[in-house]
Amino acid sequence: MDGIVALGHFCESHGPIVILATQKTDCEPQEKPPHILNSPVCEACKSIDLEEAVVSEDENVYYVSSRIPLKEDVAFLLKNAAVRSISCEEMGKEGGLMYFGDDQRGHVVTYTFYVADSQARGFKRKYCLILLSGDRVHLLNHWRHITKHFEVIASDLKEKALKVNNLEQATCSQKAARQASQQSTRSCTGRSLQELTGVSSIFLQIHMWFVYLLSVNVMEEIKPNILEVPISCNGAIMLRKLYKEISNRDFKKVLYCFLTGIKVESKDTEILKLFQQLLPKKFKLPQTGEACVLVKENDAWKVNWKGNLPLKLPTLLNLIEEGLNSENLPDEALESYLASFSYQWYNISCDIACCNVYSEELLKVLGVHKYDMPLLSYWTTEVRNL
Ligand SMILES: [Zn+2]
Repeated sequence: MDGIVALGHFCESHGPIVILATQKTDCEPQEKPPHILNSPVCEACKSIDLEEAVVSEDENVYYVSSRIPLKEDVAFLLKNAAVRSISCEEMGKEGGLMYFGDDQRGHVVTYTFYVADSQARGFKRKYCLILLSGDRVHLLNHWRHITKHFEVIASDLKEKALKVNNLEQATCSQKAARQASQQSTRSCTGRSLQELTGVSSIFLQIHMWFVYLLSVNVMEEIKPNILEVPISCNGAIMLRKLYKEISNRDFKKVLYCFLTGIKVESKDTEILKLFQQLLPKKFKLPQTGEACVLVKENDAWKVNWKGNLPLKLPTLLNLIEEGLNSENLPDEALESYLASFSYQWYNISCDIACCNVYSEELLKVLGVHKYDMPLLSYWTTEVRNL
């Protein structure tokens, strides 16, 4: 990934400051940049010597770690990022993760954390890991990669320092250690991370972590395009209620007409919607042809339709009726029941619709019978028109 990764801390003498920065370059640095000498140094701010750099090479890409960045303008941006992440933003007692930035000052992901130090104010020292990039989208695409490894690096440093701290406390209490350090060397600004973690090569380890962070190119994450379920039967319970109010023969007629693309009319449009929910949402209702009319007379539903129901009804119609009629299927499960069978027949229609010529064999495999054809004729036509 592109960007510059750095470690900063809060120095009791120098305030928020970057103590190690790793950058990618296409050649090895030949000479020390002049601005590097302006960087303050004390025991606490110690990392790699000011005039030195640690370089790792990987297929003509160089990863250079230095006390401060090689480019002065980047050093300035990184310094500001360290100030903001350590001093300006409130991150809670344990520190934490944050993003800030803009196109002028760069985009920053920062992770602040505390390292135990029995000689420091509050017995802990504040550090931050920073990733600075000019490209917000690039940075956010690598968000998981960055945050995961920042957390790993921080917890490793914390763990190491805690071990050292526990050993120190076994011999001398924190308060006594702090008082002793203040009395013995008034000019002492604190201890280096090497001393705090007890690892003399800690900055080389951090260099390797930073090299790994910068060397990995995370594939851009593309969210799967989750298709919207084309059927929603959220009025299933109302349909069951209606099923009990209409005679079975009339109910079957209306349902058959809806499922096979025969026009249905009623003054009560809400009732029509209860049947329509069984069709995929994007299907168009027929506008022409002789209609099946559903009317309410003397509080009873009546159906006027000149057509006749076939002897064998489509499978889906039977399944719907079975579900509505079943005492073993609770209201809570009815919506899913109806939607899943309707969805199954929608998929069958899609399979058939994409074949110009379909065989008996295919219909058999799909579980389609002759009595399903009136339904499929309507559904496949609608699917082709979607
Ligand atoms: Zn310092």
